[in-house]
Amino acid sequence: MILPILQYGNPILRAKGKRIDEIDDRIRELVANMIETMHAAHGVGLAAQQIGEALQLTVLDISAVEDRPSTLKLDGKDADPKSAMPLVLVNPEIELDGETEIGIEGCLSFPEITGDIERAHSVMVRAQNLEGETIQIEAGGFLARAIQHEHDHLNGILFIDRMRSAAKAALSSRLRRMQKEVRRGRRILPEEERPFVTETTL
Ligand code: ZN
Repeated sequence: MILPILQYGNPILRAKGKRIDEIDDRIRELVANMIETMHAAHGVGLAAQQIGEALQLTVLDISAVEDRPSTLKLDGKDADPKSAMPLVLVNPEIELDGETEIGIEGCLSFPEITGDIERAHSVMVRAQNLEGETIQIEAGGFLARAIQHEHDHLNGILFIDRMRSAAKAALSSRLRRMQKEVRRGRRILPEEERPFVTETTL
């Protein structure tokens, strides 16, 4: 089932996700719906907060992205990033590598906005998969960026928080307008305006 994606201004996007203690049928159904919703929106990731659940849960799929390379090691072994998708991360904890790079990002909760964001080039992730097994992932490049973006959502952090202050200042009136529209319930998703960025790729 495709779920509505919450837009900036909805307070759930600012909520820190609760740890998931047990992966039950409700969580499995939620994950299936999140993957379907992410694919329908041409996104590369979706966090539980974006569909109204403040949980430590995110799904990712970077397999449609051709021009921004990714690397992946699963439990210490080199893996093909595309064939490991979709990736389900339950209770992810991440460690950032020291090197950073700037890249453009967007977000399904901000359909008209993109910005340059500095992120670590690679990350080490410990999480559970949908079977409840602990997995260890080393991701680089675009996948590392997408994981950091989603991990931020799980802690109520949004990509605008990481924009340089001048870029954020330039967007401030637009952001205020978005918040007001969401609070009045008038916000819609203009599909044709979705940019080619982190969560939106096509
Ligand atoms: Zn996002």
